Amino acid sequence: MAEKRVLVIGSGVAGLSAALDLAAAGVEVDVVEQYEFAGGQGIRLSCKATETCVKCGACMAGDRLGRALKHPRIRLMTGSSIEATDRNGRFAFQIRRKPEFIDPSKCNACGICYKQCPAEGAIIQGTSGHHRPFFAISEKVCLYLKDKSCTACRDSCPMSAINLDAMKQTELTQADAVIVAAGFSTYRPYEKPYGYGVFPNVVTNQELEAILKRHGRVLRPSDHTEPGRIAFIQCVGSRDTKLGHLWCSTYCCGSALRLARLIGHRQPQIQTTLFYIDIQTFGRTIESYYKETKEKIRMIRSIPGDIYPSENKGLKMTYLDPMTADTLQEDFDLIVLSVAMMPPAGLEGILKMFHLDRIADGFLSLSEDTARQGIFAAGAVTGPMPLAEAAASGSKAAWQSICYLKTA
Ligand SMILES: Cc1cc2nc3c(=O)[nH]c(=O)nc-3n(C[C@H](O)[C@H](O)[C@H](O)COP(=O)(O)OP(=O)(O)OC[C@H]3O[C@@H](n4cnc5c(N)ncnc54)[C@H](O)[C@@H]3O)c2cc1C
Repeated sequence: MAEKRVLVIGSGVAGLSAALDLAAAGVEVDVVEQYEFAGGQGIRLSCKATETCVKCGACMAGDRLGRALKHPRIRLMTGSSIEATDRNGRFAFQIRRKPEFIDPSKCNACGICYKQCPAEGAIIQGTSGHHRPFFAISEKVCLYLKDKSCTACRDSCPMSAINLDAMKQTELTQADAVIVAAGFSTYRPYEKPYGYGVFPNVVTNQELEAILKRHGRVLRPSDHTEPGRIAFIQCVGSRDTKLGHLWCSTYCCGSALRLARLIGHRQPQIQTTLFYIDIQTFGRTIESYYKETKEKIRMIRSIPGDIYPSENKGLKMTYLDPMTADTLQEDFDLIVLSVAMMPPAGLEGILKMFHLDRIADGFLSLSEDTARQGIFAAGAVTGPMPLAEAAASGSKAAWQSICYLKTA
């Protein structure tokens, strides 16, 4: 495998698993990540362990990222985008890297820049100890980059790690094969009758994960108080014929059960109710976990109708009682929408670059013919899947690439 090089698009669990297996086989790997921080969605999840590990998989991204960062054959480029140039035997790419405003070798993650910055969202925080630097500057929000009106972060940094005049970089690279591991996006539930985007205490499960990661417990976005009653609504945007999203997102039932259990463990005063169509449990251990969890949280087999505001920034929810078919109303302090996995934003550009097709539901589908050209896919870009499956799919794509490289 000497001198063979593979380009991996996306640094989630799938892309990192592929990169590690390729590197172990002696292949040089470039991993290109569009976002400022590597690790994909997985690195933003909280560990759901209560008394023991509950096998949520949240540690998988950090584990793979830590190993990838140390591997001499893996080059990880965050804040980067690629453009294919022509193919003459090997794939040729132009990689554009965002300016490195914060020097990772100097930043000590003290957070002073974050505290001093007057523009909300201009300094973005990492979510893992593997994120070096732990902070990044948003080109869209930073006031210096807009009109040079603020240098608070640079002036306050005790390590002189910030260079607001850093320039973007461009480089040309070549690869013998490509693995597309661009992951997924999530459904934005604005068109559902749940008041998302109107009521601050209606959040997606992704936003709940961010609250937990940041505060270690659940707080209401409206006033940072602890909610007394939380409702989860499952299948928001998936298994939905009106939207044409017929797929089950596969991660959300397990994720909601584990989240509900974790909340009950850390904040026992909170009552959690889960509204569901049916519980889709995947994996060897989740069935027994489900049975146990069912005894601790209230579960109602019904998909709620509307949500209205009630007193004290609360939320009134209507739903059909599955036993009596009566319409009921109930108050909650926080409502969590378990949203669908969707094809990743920006997939169109990748499809065009490699002349690929989507499958009917919008995810990526690769044929034998694309494999013969040295193009492979891994992870949730090919369809909804949980972390362990994304990792296995990354390893599979690495193996397919190695077989291709041996014959190419
Ligand atoms: C709220 C929530 C909770 C979840 N909880 C669980 C759980 O408890 N257990 C579980 O097993 N799974 C869970 N999942 C699912 C899990 O996040 C996915 O299975 C996993 O992230 C898929 O990994 P991936 O590498 O395929 O994609 P991703 O994690 O999405 O990684 C893809 C990466 O590719 C990058 N990318 C995309 N396009 C480009 C491009 N053009 N150029 C460069 N980079 C690009 C993205 O920025 C991203 O970093 C959860 C998901 C959500 C949304």
